[in-house]
Amino acid sequence: MEQQKKMLQELDHKKIFDQVQGYALEYLSKVDSMDAFPQNVNIEKLSAFDEVLPSNSCSADEVLHQLHAFGSPATVAQNGGRYFGFVNGSSLPVGIATKWLSAAWDQNGGLYYTSPINAMLELVCENWLKEIFKLPDSTVAGFVSGTSTANLCALLAARYELLRRQDWDVNKQGLNGAPMIRIIAHDQVHSSVKKTLSLIGFGQNTIEWLPSNFQGKLMADELPNLDENCLLLLQAGNANTGAFDDFESICVKAQKAAAWVHIDGAFGLWAAASKKLSHLTKGIEKADSWAVDGHKTLNTPYDSGIVLCKNADAMITALQASGEYIIYSDKKDPMLYSTEMSKSSRAIELWACMKYLGRKGIDELVSQLHSTALEIAKQLNDLGLTIINEVVFNQVLVQANSQDKTKHLTQYLQKSGSIWLGGTTWKGEAAIRISCCSWKTNTADIKILVDLFQKGLSQYKMS
Ligand SMILES: *Cc1c(COP(=O)(O)O)cnc(C)c1O
Repeated sequence: MEQQKKMLQELDHKKIFDQVQGYALEYLSKVDSMDAFPQNVNIEKLSAFDEVLPSNSCSADEVLHQLHAFGSPATVAQNGGRYFGFVNGSSLPVGIATKWLSAAWDQNGGLYYTSPINAMLELVCENWLKEIFKLPDSTVAGFVSGTSTANLCALLAARYELLRRQDWDVNKQGLNGAPMIRIIAHDQVHSSVKKTLSLIGFGQNTIEWLPSNFQGKLMADELPNLDENCLLLLQAGNANTGAFDDFESICVKAQKAAAWVHIDGAFGLWAAASKKLSHLTKGIEKADSWAVDGHKTLNTPYDSGIVLCKNADAMITALQASGEYIIYSDKKDPMLYSTEMSKSSRAIELWACMKYLGRKGIDELVSQLHSTALEIAKQLNDLGLTIINEVVFNQVLVQANSQDKTKHLTQYLQKSGSIWLGGTTWKGEAAIRISCCSWKTNTADIKILVDLFQKGLSQYKMS
């Protein structure tokens, strides 16, 4: 009772909400001057969290203070403009603000009856996404944690459908003794796709791997004969080069054979929203399922993956759930389109970001990420570095004139703190990977990045 009284008082006084708002606003105003990767001293101070589970309750003030004092300085400043690692976007201000409100709503997004507002916004987002990506009318969307889960949901739908065509109900009969599905993928599918295939019972040795070209792009002439037992895995946006497969020619062939085509478009599918870049996604509408993230290119807060599937029956049946207490509605019940049951109402933030930007704003954001990548590539090329990929989207792959030098340069840049980017291996050689994903990156950020490259190069020459 004491505890409940204390919590009611916290709600009533609102003090902790003012306190946390102050912390968050202070963080947002400082994030641009923070190191892109936290300094060691700040990481060491994380030991403040290394404590035993307290026996007694403390004040909310103390909890929030500890987070701000020790957590904030140890964060990776990817919400600023100088983070070029992985394919990590920032958050649009409207997305952050919406997340605060939706936290107060605390909606379980699983069913219409647990959150009509989330169900409504899922439907709206579904329609808007279909319009942006120009997908068939019958396409349905599930809102999941990220593209890994979106790939999983799509491949479960594909597995269900491809087995059904061979008179096998995987829900009832399982995989033991099931007919064969031919899985065809190119050597550049994302690691999360490989993981998904193993999770759903398709080991890597059973997959027909196809070679991609130097850019990591699959061309139609590499395709084997396809048939209606095939699941073909394509990619919009290679995580290293940003390359897009040759969708139009590949999908025409796949459609003729009635093969199921899935496109992993975690960050690249958004090219469809840019007039300048939509040539890259030409033909995607001929596929059967797609996976995409809000939290990369669109700069929504995290926890925003979307699975899109043309065959609603296959998806809903594959992801079926039943239980006597579940009440389905005649509206949209989000859990039917996801592996989850209780689920975050993540469509709220996705909706807010799309509503805020509008069609033109999304076009501008996506095109801007591309321009940033082009500008960085040009300036690094001027320094004498080699850009090994065609900068078709937001990724830049850079090499110095020896592998050793490339590796040293990567370490130098990562240690600098003021920017962060990753290293990778591309077709057997070391490379530096620059991912332009933040709405915030401006010419001053680009200058800091390029100056650091220059400094790193000259240091290496001296040593
Ligand atoms: C990031 C990424 C994924 C995984 O998405 P998550 O949102 O991290 O789960 C899958 N495929 C590609 C091409 C990616 O870039």
